[in-house]
Amino acid sequence: MPILNILQFPDPKLRQKAAPVAVVDDNIRTLVDDMFETMYSAPGIGLAAVQVNVLKRVIVIDISEDKSQPGCFINPEIVEHSGDEKMEEGCLSVPGIYEPVSRAKDIIVRYLDRDGNTQELSVGGVLAVCIQHEMDHLDGKLFVDYLSEMKRNRIRKKMEKMRQHTM
Ligand code: ZN
Repeated sequence: MPILNILQFPDPKLRQKAAPVAVVDDNIRTLVDDMFETMYSAPGIGLAAVQVNVLKRVIVIDISEDKSQPGCFINPEIVEHSGDEKMEEGCLSVPGIYEPVSRAKDIIVRYLDRDGNTQELSVGGVLAVCIQHEMDHLDGKLFVDYLSEMKRNRIRKKMEKMRQHTM
């Protein structure tokens, strides 16, 4: 399975919005498999299709340390949320940057699984944060958008500098 290229902030392609998946077919399952492979090899705990320049509402997540809890969420929707919590977040598209972001503490998410069945999951903690972070990507939003403009500009400069060094 191929490892997909992960777009890096401030690539404008990360600002694209993903469209809902109409049918969960083998093409989508292949995308999901490739996204898992890409996420694990990065390594990371979550990846949204927009990050690999595919404009479909698909995210994969595994917050375990031993790749034992792969979760794939297609057309995810938050149907209920409560509380709020500040946690430090990072992103495969903004490597090396970790900043605290406030999000809903507990959520109920409705989605299609890899067989196309509708599921509902009630979650809190890191998984809830991760789902909200990845869902933002599907609307072209990044966790740095929650930071001050000054901070975001500083991160942008840092990313651009890093890119020049690796070219
Ligand atoms: Zn991210």
